[in-house]
Amino acid sequence: MRNAGLGSWPERRLRISPDRDAIWFEGTTTSHAGFSERVRRTAGALAGLGVRAGDRVAWWSGNHPAALETLYACGQLGAVWVPVNARLTAPEAEYVLGHSGATIVIHGRDHGELADALRTPGAGVRSWIAVEPPTAGGADSLPYEELLAGSDPEPRDVPVGLDDPCLIMYTSGTTGRPKGAVLTHGNMTWNATNQMLGFDFGPTERTLAVAPLFHIGGLNGTVNPTLLRGGCAVVVRRFDPAGTLAVIEEQGIHSFFAVPTMLDAMAREPDFRTRDLSELRTIGAAGAPLPLPTLRTWLDRGVTMQQAYGMTEAAPGCTVLDSADAVRKVGSAGKPVFFTDVRVLRPDGTVAGVDEIGEVVVQGLNVMAGYWNDPERTAEVLIDGWYHTGDAGSVDDEGFLYIRDRYKDMIISGGENIYPAEVESALLELPGVREAAVIGVPDEKWGEVGLAILVVEPATRRDADAIRHALRERLAGFKVPRLVRFADELPKTATGKIRKPDLREHYLREHYLDTEEE
Ligand code: ATP
Ligand code: MG
Repeated sequence: MRNAGLGSWPERRLRISPDRDAIWFEGTTTSHAGFSERVRRTAGALAGLGVRAGDRVAWWSGNHPAALETLYACGQLGAVWVPVNARLTAPEAEYVLGHSGATIVIHGRDHGELADALRTPGAGVRSWIAVEPPTAGGADSLPYEELLAGSDPEPRDVPVGLDDPCLIMYTSGTTGRPKGAVLTHGNMTWNATNQMLGFDFGPTERTLAVAPLFHIGGLNGTVNPTLLRGGCAVVVRRFDPAGTLAVIEEQGIHSFFAVPTMLDAMAREPDFRTRDLSELRTIGAAGAPLPLPTLRTWLDRGVTMQQAYGMTEAAPGCTVLDSADAVRKVGSAGKPVFFTDVRVLRPDGTVAGVDEIGEVVVQGLNVMAGYWNDPERTAEVLIDGWYHTGDAGSVDDEGFLYIRDRYKDMIISGGENIYPAEVESALLELPGVREAAVIGVPDEKWGEVGLAILVVEPATRRDADAIRHALRERLAGFKVPRLVRFADELPKTATGKIRKPDLREHYLREHYLDTEEE
């Protein structure tokens, strides 16, 4: 095969285990042979619409097997897959489509009206394809299944190298405007290899695709590595805590990737204690620090969690905590994955000592080529071959990495550095606290002080003094947030991360009002 990239995986898998399950979706199972044929047909359909090597093809939908079909089909054509966050509004999606220069958009059933709003004559997008009949609007979009039925299922062998771009994935936008990380076929291959080694995926692995496939953790945490290994991806449209627990039991799921907020929501379901989780071997938890109480609840149910650390720019896996160390090294993100190196640097660029906090930098074949059409932001983060993460961390005497928090979120109060993640973890251990976010707000005396925003159980009293009092028993005084506010919910990204810029904007305004009143 002249195709060395991800597009060749289904063809290579076909030679080895055509009959094993590849995809399960809403009651239908597709074998690896069936999957490879659908990928070839998708490639034929896209080629029929004029897609050539280097062209960008956008995917804009919630989870659906066609996410994987279109990704692999692009790989067979040497085209570049551009996943778009399903929750974006029309103007937000327009930015991503325009910035990436996508010529084809494949959208989900909920995006018909949005597609209509963006279907401007003469704009860069030539064709709109509806994966399923849209619930509203989208009448002019081409039907995906019909395109596949009419297309040529012959294998094609476009030369694709490991350095060619496979996808452009926009970051979560947790800290600002999303950046388009260009991930090559080599990045995909080496990430999958790293993940297979770190999570021990078996040849008949059944993994759950529940985190969004348009984000890197959902796509590459367990799903693509499982397909490479010859296992099955059980695709669910969207996360709902009770439904996901049911699928885990019914489908005999062995592994999945999730962000901590999802795991916490599942652990609060009444079903959590009674569901049969005996097949579930491990959960890769990443994207944000895993609070200790969440880890403990799942461990009590006999499920190991492998805390991992990664980011879109690294496709995403950088470190993973082996299940054997999950308890002994609780709180650590583990050790670098096999083909990847991780260091902690001082501000002067020298390597930090044991337990010394500095910036985490990453190097490896899984690290992106750069940000799409953004040489400036690329040059800011890719320095001498190392990706500078903007995360504060430290390495202990045994080589285990601890992520403290993002530098952007760090609070400097009276000259002391406060890592909100540590405070949030302590807050979540208090009875009745359901969600917690800590941000820094300006303060005349201390420079900055911590402000905790809490979502508490309905029956819990909203008593700021009691919360601060309880925290004082767990944390050094300077870490205890000076201000505590209560909210009904916290703003989150599609991956379930708390959007701190939104909180800052909201509460800064309020805080200024407070100070004026005093
Ligand atoms: P943006 O870059 O657009 O602001 P984002 O950084 O949230 O968004 P992602 O690439 O999805 O986008 O997330 C990667 C980031 O998530 C890491 O840089 C780190 O800050 C955080 N993260 C990932 N894993 C962990 C972990 N195990 N512990 C703490 N933080 C983590
Ligand atoms: Mg980031």
